[in-house]
Amino acid sequence: MNQKDLWLSAIKELSSDINRTNVITWFKNTAILENNSGEVVIGLPLPVFLDWHKKKYAESTLSALQKVSPEIKKITYLVDLTLVESDPRVIDLLKYFPSKTKRKLPNKSELKINGKFRSKIFSSRYSLDNFIVSPQNRLAHAASLTVAKFPGQNYNPLFLFGNVGLGKTHLLQSIGKEALRNDPDKVIVYTTTESFANELIDGIQERKMNRFRNKYRNVDILMIDDIQFIANKDKTQEEFFHTFNTLYEAGKQMVISSDRPPAELKLFSERLISRFESGMLVELKMPDFEGRMQILEGRCQEAQVIINRKILELIAYNSDQSVRQLIGVLNQVIARYELENLAPTIQSVTQLLQRSKEQVKEVGFKSISKKPEGKSVTLDCLIDKVSDYFTVPKDEILGNSRTREYVVPRQIIMYLAKSKLQLSLNRIGEGLGKRNHTTVMHAITKVKNQIKSNHQLLCDINAISKEVGIA
Ligand code: ADP
Ligand code: MG
Repeated sequence: MNQKDLWLSAIKELSSDINRTNVITWFKNTAILENNSGEVVIGLPLPVFLDWHKKKYAESTLSALQKVSPEIKKITYLVDLTLVESDPRVIDLLKYFPSKTKRKLPNKSELKINGKFRSKIFSSRYSLDNFIVSPQNRLAHAASLTVAKFPGQNYNPLFLFGNVGLGKTHLLQSIGKEALRNDPDKVIVYTTTESFANELIDGIQERKMNRFRNKYRNVDILMIDDIQFIANKDKTQEEFFHTFNTLYEAGKQMVISSDRPPAELKLFSERLISRFESGMLVELKMPDFEGRMQILEGRCQEAQVIINRKILELIAYNSDQSVRQLIGVLNQVIARYELENLAPTIQSVTQLLQRSKEQVKEVGFKSISKKPEGKSVTLDCLIDKVSDYFTVPKDEILGNSRTREYVVPRQIIMYLAKSKLQLSLNRIGEGLGKRNHTTVMHAITKVKNQIKSNHQLLCDINAISKEVGIA
């Protein structure tokens, strides 16, 4: 009998005493590494397995092996990090221990839960693979991996905290995706604290609290993003507290993110704080220069552009507060490069950096939804300038005429309002004769595409930008 068959028979033997979930959890990606004159070396995929196996399964494993092969005298354990699903030594346990109720995964972001509930989860942009690891976030990444692999086992709850834009949402979403890949039968819910609170309010108003509770108290993994927003919401805190306890006692995994550590959250319950602290607490910090360069290089690869290393260094050096800002600046550089054929220069990138720093500051001090003043004036001013430039009446631009003469100026305004003034699609639509945001989006896409081949259009846009002072 080869080692794989021997191990499978032993696991099957063991499974008469251990339930399926534990078999899958603790024997997945394990293997017999050696079998020499009665001494068997069992490989475990992660260090956390070692204690558990020694304490819980050593005796029963030996006797299960002896049942299959009586000459076996002794077992020892060895952690081998190369034991992953694709390793030929590893047995596909899900094949031999299928779950009775197989849940099919739809290929979209909406997921049916318990056949009844739907939850929006997991952006395809985020994965544990495309999270760049640096010393400042290594622990958070490793803990996320472990939780995705062994939900509810060791790090419960996993509490990730750190300033905005450092990858908390990225990690939460990736954990969900990865855990679902490991076990499609798991019921996993990702929610922001805000929508948790809103659903709760709806539940109370519509007298559907049972439904709400069923949803949140019957999950295998619950991920709650930005728990700091629970401050001052007593009702939400109370409900969350019960949800937390129910899940905690059932051994279900929770992953929580916050912009500050538990002790600094304004929570009514000391017990909740200490529960948070009893799990795995990890702080995310801004990646160092090396890490930032790697993130930028990764983004360039994704966008399939090559950008001068000096420019990347300039961005990495100056964006030391938030990864979102770091990537945001690079995205703007790429957009200009692609759309307007403007190769980035030290000077133009410095300007972008300054602008993005001001925005970051603004977000830090004011509420995010408050638009900086003056921008609405600039949209009007842009409309005036474009109307002058093409010598067409402003009313026609704002009106519904489909004549090319008016359509082109209208589209240019939308494009510039988005790319230069960074106005939202809604805001642009509103300011341009109450148009729908999808209309605005189509117009912008059209201009973006045409710019590539239409030299005249590009010249017009550049000239207008200079005129308005947004070049
Ligand atoms: P937070 O939730 O902490 O505010 P996000 O998870 O939204 O931050 O991250 C902001 C952006 O930065 C996202 O686009 C995310 O993909 C990216 N990001 C953050 N950290 C990393 C990282 N270490 N590697 C790759 N991308 C990252
Ligand atoms: Mg976030």
